[in-house]
Amino acid sequence: MKDIKSMLLPEIELELKELSEQKFRARQIYKWLHSGVVSFEDMTNLPQKLRQRLGELYYITAPKVLRKQESKYDGTIKYLWELNDKNSVESVIMRYNYGNTICVSSQVGCRMGCAFCASTIGGRVRDLSASEILDQVIFAELDSGLKISNIVMMGIGEPLDNFDNVIRFLQLVNSEDGLNIGMRHITISTCGIIEKVDKLGDYNIQSTLTISLHAPDDETRDKIMPINRATGVDNLLAAGRRYFEKTGRRVSYEYAMIDGVNDSEKQAKLLVSKLKGTGSHVNLILLNEVIESPLKPTKPENLEKFINILKSGGINVTKRRKLGGDIDASCGQLRRKATQN
Ligand code: SAH
Repeated sequence: MKDIKSMLLPEIELELKELSEQKFRARQIYKWLHSGVVSFEDMTNLPQKLRQRLGELYYITAPKVLRKQESKYDGTIKYLWELNDKNSVESVIMRYNYGNTICVSSQVGCRMGCAFCASTIGGRVRDLSASEILDQVIFAELDSGLKISNIVMMGIGEPLDNFDNVIRFLQLVNSEDGLNIGMRHITISTCGIIEKVDKLGDYNIQSTLTISLHAPDDETRDKIMPINRATGVDNLLAAGRRYFEKTGRRVSYEYAMIDGVNDSEKQAKLLVSKLKGTGSHVNLILLNEVIESPLKPTKPENLEKFINILKSGGINVTKRRKLGGDIDASCGQLRRKATQN
């Protein structure tokens, strides 16, 4: 059986051709799939015989809501989905004044090993298919009744470690007959797999790229992000500049503030010197505490100092607002809890 929701429209057209069916049926099927229909039987504008045939050849992915939590403070909604094979992943809907944003997962677990991250603790179990990434958007919209206008790939997993399925997901979610979400409304976040950043730049997809930097020096970054041992900060920043040259899209950098690890004045100054003149944006996040990790968030006074050094160095800096603090909305934490119970 084949995963029909991971197929692009021209691919479904080809499948139908092989079945000696009419081409226009492909668009009908595609639209049904992207509207969240879970059975071919519900595709009411298809002849009964075709529905049956499709059911014998293809399957339709559909996650179940295993847990749903809604923040009392800001309306943030967190979903824990159960996939067809009983694995689980998370998504979070955040309500901003510019629209609703969903944070989606790209893998079950993660193999990148970042010291501060809950998603990587059990390693990577498997990649998500394009349809499973798309389903998070489709079914979150259906369940919540909210229209989603922006997507960030900041859930569980490293999107560039599941490159082909992520590209396919982008094509699906961006398509006119699908959810039609603009590429510029989609952010890919990476811990910095350099060759994949270059490959993404070559595709010249107009999505936003954000790199999880978290330290300006190799000594610190090597410690908290194992991927850095092979690449190094300077090479990663060079890849960010290449991405901008190829796509015209400025890269932004995520920086989770960790007490006594990456929040010194010296590191703030080094960060300024490395990003000066690139027009890059730095998004500071206060570390979310993960039970399994001894790392703590930066003290408020150090955070302010760090921000001021960046600002006076001419770096465009924002501090990420904390949403869903009462519902374990830091990705990976809900899945951890659920799989331990
Ligand atoms: N693998 C991708 C995307 C998933 S993580 C990446 O590394 O970018 C999304 C963002 O959350 C990344 O910037 C990641 O470094 C950050 N993050 C992970 N754990 C965190 C924590 N405990 N507190 C704050 N930010 C965290």
